[in-house]
Amino acid sequence: MLNTDVLVLNSGFIPIRITSARDAICLLTADKAIPVLQSDYIVRSPSVSIKIPSVISILGYNDLPRRKVVFSKLNVIYRDDMTCQFCHQRFLIRDLTVDHVIPGSRWQEITGRSLRDGYSTWTNMVCACRWCNNRKGNKLLSELGWTLREQPEEPKYMPHIIISFEKAQKKGWLPFCAFNVKLIKMIT
Ligand SMILES: [Zn+2]
Repeated sequence: MLNTDVLVLNSGFIPIRITSARDAICLLTADKAIPVLQSDYIVRSPSVSIKIPSVISILGYNDLPRRKVVFSKLNVIYRDDMTCQFCHQRFLIRDLTVDHVIPGSRWQEITGRSLRDGYSTWTNMVCACRWCNNRKGNKLLSELGWTLREQPEEPKYMPHIIISFEKAQKKGWLPFCAFNVKLIKMIT
């Protein structure tokens, strides 16, 4: 139970991160946070007995952590909303990969640029299911008759917290999911 996830809000009740129940209890006992939503589970130690929180709010902290949109495979998958850009279907994370639109073997011929120049970037990488990824190989979209669902671009904004809708619902977090939380439906 001490490893269960707890949603951390700033003083203005905007979600800032997810932490473990262990860390959340440390913040509560140090009077650095208040419980907002509690579970029915209680942790007891010789000196304290405390209900395991599901949501806490940090006292005296109104900021939002800065977040640059980091280029990563997972963020490409989230940018594309877990939808394969080749067959346009949504998949579970485990069936998703990231694929180059213009393959490495054709990059120079098509773009006239070296592989170090724009090849593995937001604009040439898309979310692909593993089946399409296999079928695509070193071909161009035009050779396969495929079209991208959306033109890949660098996202201007990424939410601070990305969680599944089902998890947020189960943990009672939905009322606290503000503008900076992206809820993803894991089941299509
Ligand atoms: Zn696909």
